[in-house]
Amino acid sequence: MTGQVNSDAYTPQSGDPHISVSHYDLTLDYKVTTNRLSGTAVVRGTAVASTKTIALDLVGLRATKVRVTGAKAASFRQTDRKLRITLPSELAPGDEFEATILYAGAPRPRRTRWGTIGWEELEDGVLVASQPTGAATWFPCNDVPADKAMYRISVSTDAGYTVAVTGREVSRTTRGGKTTWVYESVAPTATYLATVQIGRYTTEQVALGSVSARLIYPQPLAARVHADFADLGQMMSVFEETFGPYPFEDYVAIVTEDDLEIPLEAQGMGIFGANHIDGVGGLERLVAHELAHQWFGNSVGIAAWHDIWLNEGFACYAEWIWSERSGGPTAHAKALTHYGRLSLLEKDLLLGDPGADLMFDDRIYKRGALTLHALRLTIGDEAFFSALRIWTERYRGEATSTPEFIALAEEVSGMALGGLFEEWLEQRELPALPAGAVVAPVTAARRRGSGRG
Ligand SMILES: [Zn+2]
Repeated sequence: MTGQVNSDAYTPQSGDPHISVSHYDLTLDYKVTTNRLSGTAVVRGTAVASTKTIALDLVGLRATKVRVTGAKAASFRQTDRKLRITLPSELAPGDEFEATILYAGAPRPRRTRWGTIGWEELEDGVLVASQPTGAATWFPCNDVPADKAMYRISVSTDAGYTVAVTGREVSRTTRGGKTTWVYESVAPTATYLATVQIGRYTTEQVALGSVSARLIYPQPLAARVHADFADLGQMMSVFEETFGPYPFEDYVAIVTEDDLEIPLEAQGMGIFGANHIDGVGGLERLVAHELAHQWFGNSVGIAAWHDIWLNEGFACYAEWIWSERSGGPTAHAKALTHYGRLSLLEKDLLLGDPGADLMFDDRIYKRGALTLHALRLTIGDEAFFSALRIWTERYRGEATSTPEFIALAEEVSGMALGGLFEEWLEQRELPALPAGAVVAPVTAARRRGSGRG
C-alpha cells in the first residue's frame, strides 16, 4: 500500500521486498474448544520489483491449495516460515496480483526473541497480539510494518462467543450454532496491528465525544471496568485536542478474562488483561498509553522497527500529558522523575537504532518521551503541539521515519534541531534536558472527583 516496502533489518526473515499488499480478505472458521482454524486468504497486491515468485509469511499453519490470477492452481512450497508461490508468469514492477490461499491447522503463538507472539488460546477464547512478527501465525501475509493494507475479516465460531476484530463490524449472522462475524477495515493497517479477540464477553457501547466506542469485557469485571474506563471520554477529548482528530472510525477497549503481561495496542483497539483493571484506576497510565497509540504507531506508523521510539516515546509522552491534564503531576515533573531514574541505568542503548533485542526495552519508552520533552523545552509549547498535530494529519495512514519527524519539527519551529536529535537519538549518554524554558501545563489542571492521584 505504501511505497517503501523493504525487508526490515530487525526482522530479516519477514516480508517479501518484491511485493506490496493492498488488501487481505480473510474468511476464517475457528473452533474454540479444539483450537482448529481453517481459512481462505485472498491477498491482493502489486509487484514493486520484478519477480516470478511471492513469498508470504506463514507460521504453524499448512497451506493446502493456492490459486493465483491467471492460473487455476499455482505451485507452492512451504517452509516453517514461508509460503513461496510460483506465479504463472513474471510480474514486472506495477503489475497486480491476487493469490488465494486455503490453509488450516492449530494456530499457536510463535517463539521469538521478544517472547511468544501471535494467535494465542486463552482459558476460554483467543487473543491475537502480533507485534512485531506474530501476524503470520494466523494468516499468510507480507509481515513488515511498512506494508499497510486494508482488510475484510470474517470469523465463524461457536455462537455464544463475542468476536472483536480489527475494523468495523459489517454483519453478524447465526446459523446452526455458529455465528459469523464480518469486519472491514478501510484504514491502512500494518499486519501486526490486525487482530482477532474471542471470548465470553459483554459488549457495551460508549460515546467518547464524537467517537463511537465499545467496552468489551467479561461480565464479572463490569464494576472494575466501569470505574477504570470512566475517564476514557475525557482522555479522548484531551488527546483529540492535543494530537488532532481521532484517526479511526471507532475505538474498542477490550479486557480479557486472563491476566496479560502487558496491555497491547491493535488498530482501533486497546487490549488489557484482567490484572490491569483494578477498579481504582491504578493503571490508568496504560489506558492512556494504548489510546495514544491510535495516533502514534497505528495511524502514523513506522516504516522500520528501528524507529520504534516514534511509537513508544510518543505513547509514553501521552501518558505524561494525560497526567498533567487530569490533575496529576505535570509532564515536566514526570520528565524530571524519569530523567533521574534513567540517569541511574546503564547507557548502552541507542534510541534511534536500539537493535532488535532492545526494541521493547523500557528505556526506549522513557528516553523517547524525554526526547519529546527536550524538543518541547527547546521549541516551546506552541510549536511543539502544532508539530504533533501536523504530524498526525500529514502522515495519517502512512509509515514514517525519524528524519521526517525531525524535518517537520524544524519546519514548524524554524529552528535547526539536528544537534538536539543527534544527542538524544544517536548517542548513548543521557543529554542534559534543555534548561531555562518555562513549561506551563497544557491547560489549567482539572480537579478529579475521585480524589485519586
Ligand atoms: Zn506502547
